[in-house]
Amino acid sequence: MKFDILTLFPRVFEGPLDESILKRAREKGLVEIGIHNIRDHAEGKHRITDDRPFGGGPGMLMKVEPVVRAVESLKTAGTRVILLSPRGALLRQDILRRLSLEKHLILICGHYEGVDERVRELVVDEEISIGDYVLTNGGLPAMVLVDGVSRLIPGVLGDAESAGDESFSEGLLEYPQYTRPPEFRGLKAPEILFSGNHGEIAKWRREMSLRHTRKQRPDLLG
Ligand code: SAM
Repeated sequence: MKFDILTLFPRVFEGPLDESILKRAREKGLVEIGIHNIRDHAEGKHRITDDRPFGGGPGMLMKVEPVVRAVESLKTAGTRVILLSPRGALLRQDILRRLSLEKHLILICGHYEGVDERVRELVVDEEISIGDYVLTNGGLPAMVLVDGVSRLIPGVLGDAESAGDESFSEGLLEYPQYTRPPEFRGLKAPEILFSGNHGEIAKWRREMSLRHTRKQRPDLLG
């Protein structure tokens, strides 16, 4: 899987993509991540990438030409181009699963007031939002997407980090988990987990998953 991230602030990506599981995945060649400065595709002495919106209104908009040129410099036949935007479809685990089957994703990070609408019309295949709130720029949303997709790519997670039995894997939130010590400050891990009865443990976990989902996210139960 190759990700190419287009941004005006490449340094935002230093660190989060170079640690732990993602670092290992990159070293093993399972995930390749390119960070590209959109400004490199702007013209003129000042390489201007933003301008005032037609019709007035606050803030600055990212200009269409540098973004489109940046995408075109990287795009091949199998590329899927994603714009991170609060206007996009809400990111969910099933979207991450679908995207993990792609070979090449280009992620466009907006800044300021966002991008000229013609970017969407000319090069964007899909628009994704990471939640119903507005952040300063698309850097964090892009990293959320890269992280969430990467861990679904075969070989990226070791046994110790399985993606099979976790929140959303079966449309439910995860059950509570415990490890040593069995008791801490009077709080005991549930007896059932020490019973050795795997059938009963699985039943208890399912019930707890349902209970948590009903309480925290009833929308997931339909
Ligand atoms: N004016 C835009 C609007 O009202 O929809 C918001 C622009 S926001 C300040 C700047 C950029 O941050 C966006 O273009 C987008 O790339 C990114 N961004 C902010 N919130 C986001 C979210 N919830 N999901 C995905 N991207 C987001």
